[in-house]
Amino acid sequence: MVGWRSTAEGRHLKGRRKADTGPEIMLRRALHALGARFRLHRHIARGCTPDLVLPGRRIAVFVDGDYWHSCPAHGRRTPFVGPNAQLWTEKMRHNRERDARSTRLAEQAGWQVVRVWECRIRQDAVNAAKATLEGRTLGPADWPPPGQPSATDLPP
Ligand SMILES: [Zn+2]
Repeated sequence: MVGWRSTAEGRHLKGRRKADTGPEIMLRRALHALGARFRLHRHIARGCTPDLVLPGRRIAVFVDGDYWHSCPAHGRRTPFVGPNAQLWTEKMRHNRERDARSTRLAEQAGWQVVRVWECRIRQDAVNAAKATLEGRTLGPADWPPPGQPSATDLPP
């Protein structure tokens, strides 16, 4: 196993935050504006801490960044290259597996799971919040059009 090597891409990604990201805050604000009561980062099962939960509705919400969670419309579409390519590929696969496991654990604990794509929130946070309150998981946003790479092209 080869260790991580410093690359331009790695440095670029290093600044990205995993918790309290822009989309999470946007969704929280929209939920709050709709009068929803929620709790952040509550541990609801062993190995399962959703980004927020709506205890009254027993809905567990995961906000999925387009890049890290491989959005089908806006996630990375080309194979990784460079000295860390294999490690990146494994890391992304690991993220997807962890997402699936978290969903399963929450459901087993009796929670309805809603996963919200970053692009949905950036496109229309209020609409994303309404769907969340109804327990609906929406697909990726249709903007920007599929094929245009990455969340970094979305409006701030
Ligand atoms: Zn997306």
